[in-house]
Amino acid sequence: MAGSLEGKVALVTGGGSGIGRASALAFAREGAKVVVADVQVKGGEETARMIKDTGHEAVFVKADVSKASDVEKLISTAVRTYNRLDCAHNNAGIEGASASTADCTEENWDRVIDINLKGVWLCMKYEIPQMLRQKGGAIVNTSSVAGLVGFRDMPAYCASKGGIIQLTRTAALEYAARGIRVNAVCPGVIRTPMVERVTGGKQEFEAQFIGLEPAGRLGTPEEVAEAVVWLCSDAASFVMGHPMVVDGGLVSQ
Ligand code: NAP
Repeated sequence: MAGSLEGKVALVTGGGSGIGRASALAFAREGAKVVVADVQVKGGEETARMIKDTGHEAVFVKADVSKASDVEKLISTAVRTYNRLDCAHNNAGIEGASASTADCTEENWDRVIDINLKGVWLCMKYEIPQMLRQKGGAIVNTSSVAGLVGFRDMPAYCASKGGIIQLTRTAALEYAARGIRVNAVCPGVIRTPMVERVTGGKQEFEAQFIGLEPAGRLGTPEEVAEAVVWLCSDAASFVMGHPMVVDGGLVSQ
């Protein structure tokens, strides 16, 4: 599929780590210029450098996706830098604290919903007008298998990821006839710094996650990135509003 996004400009939020870094690198490999956004300056700059080291173009922009002013500035910087915006992977997210529905604090609820759900909406709010001006674009939002089935002790996370799927479907049908395709990816358990934080590097916790996966292993960020890049490519021209699982079979059980 190399070269499927030649001449395009792609934005990735949460691009400084894990799935976002892998998709930023995959966008570049496919020929896109990449705008890497993250709250983490070190990770974001490192991703941009990794892309430049492979001979492709990238720029890092520090942005907190839960803040409208940051997202507005992010999109205007992307367009000022590369003149257009063709693909957006709205991926930044946090796992939040683990607690049952009754024990989840209001602070944790607000923080998870603000970053994971409001953040995706804010990104689309500012990306879509630019894509309408260009008469086209493709957006992929990172949901999760936790948007499709429940997981104990993750009420805010599951609600945010389920919300992303409905937001994706809504935006998809609003803009389908105007050349903007909006889809989502629903990763299973992927080996990233987020999952390493949750397991604390302990083998017994990792084994529990592997036990959830019919594939018998954790997924890799690169396996998710391939789906993102495909959804953004012309090969997916009739795919709209789809929550694509990349989950090792987890939700098929
Ligand atoms: P990750 O390694 O923690 O990477 C996420 C990046 O996003 C981090 O650099 C993080 O910075 C950044 N970020 C957090 N809040 C942000 C904000 N407000 N604005 C901009 N950037 C922000 O996580 P990941 O595993 O790659 O996850 C990426 C996405 O995939 C998330 O939406 C996650 O929910 C989803 N997902 C992951 C898995 C999995 O198993 N890994 C499964 C399903 C879905 P900090 O380090 O400061 O938080």
